[in-house]
Amino acid sequence: MNNIKMSGLKISETAEELKSNCQIAVEIIKKAKRVTVTSHRNPDGDAIGSELGLYYYIKNFAEEVRIINHSHVPYNYEFLVGSEDIYLYDAARDDEYILNSDLIIVADVNDTYRLQSVGEPVRNSRAVKLLIDHHLAPKDFADHCIVDCEASSTGEIVWKMIREDVGAIISPEAAAPLYAAIMTDTGSFRYPRTDAELHAIVSDLIACGADPVSIYDNIFNRMPVRAMRLLGEAYTGMELFHGEQLCIMILKNEHFDRSKAERDDVEGFVETAMSMNGVKIAVLLAEKKNSDEIRISFRSKADYEVRDVAVSLNGGGHKQASGARVSGIAIEEVKNIVAEKFAGRLK
Ligand code: 5GP
Ligand code: MN
Repeated sequence: MNNIKMSGLKISETAEELKSNCQIAVEIIKKAKRVTVTSHRNPDGDAIGSELGLYYYIKNFAEEVRIINHSHVPYNYEFLVGSEDIYLYDAARDDEYILNSDLIIVADVNDTYRLQSVGEPVRNSRAVKLLIDHHLAPKDFADHCIVDCEASSTGEIVWKMIREDVGAIISPEAAAPLYAAIMTDTGSFRYPRTDAELHAIVSDLIACGADPVSIYDNIFNRMPVRAMRLLGEAYTGMELFHGEQLCIMILKNEHFDRSKAERDDVEGFVETAMSMNGVKIAVLLAEKKNSDEIRISFRSKADYEVRDVAVSLNGGGHKQASGARVSGIAIEEVKNIVAEKFAGRLK
């Protein structure tokens, strides 16, 4: 890969830069023989969907490609063909593969810390590292980046990259996860980056075989009863601040125990608070089992930003969807701290 002009840490600021970085990424992928694809802990639809879209594309060229993740595939993405091939990281089995890969693609996350256990072998590997992502403020670890902070999803960027490879065929197995990636990261085509261009992309994916009805049904109409009961607990205890514009929901260990719910079950909860009249910012605090860590999820409507507050708590993410983890502070205290941080910005 010596003769390929890689970008290093470089955000694609314009459509031309993005196009050129996608073309370089295609060149890099076509030269690779042994490829690792990975993404963040607690992968969401964009993480799993982007990984599988990449997997099917790369299979056309490489001798071997493996998706290796720190966390398991959430149950509502198991219907995606190929999800059964995703490796749950096991150092004894996977380190050798990762260390001897010639290309590692890190998707939908922009620092190796959020890869958790997979981060160390990724950092130690001499493979070319390709970062494909849409989060702000990427860390400098990749040899080449397709980072578009304006993209709706990593799935959208993967689609753009594949479409720079004239003649590439997107099979139904690849179209479905890419559609799922875009659908989930746009809140089912409701968030601000949903525009004509995005609909043209999903139109292409549907034409390539993605079935919007069954993909939605499989991902969103699969909520376990225990999760619905847990959501009830979150609503019962929610508090509104600053003229009912900020909603904070709290889930303690006792709530998880009472509803027999798992930690993963909170996925999608915080968004639902945004449908309350007048709510501009929603926050979910959840205790972690057997730990003093609290997971915080922030969401906001357009014109309101939550990322800076997440960053002030050592977290990160997007302007309107971000998260953080804090340890050693009681959950009620975290609630007060968070409410206070939003005091000035809500009338
Ligand atoms: P969620 O609320 O769904 O866990 O996360 C929303 C967004 O915030 C994700 O896109 C993710 O990138 C970011 N995020 C969540 N938790 C953390 C965290 O602990 N650290 C950082 N840097 N980002 C996070
Ligand atoms: Mn994403």
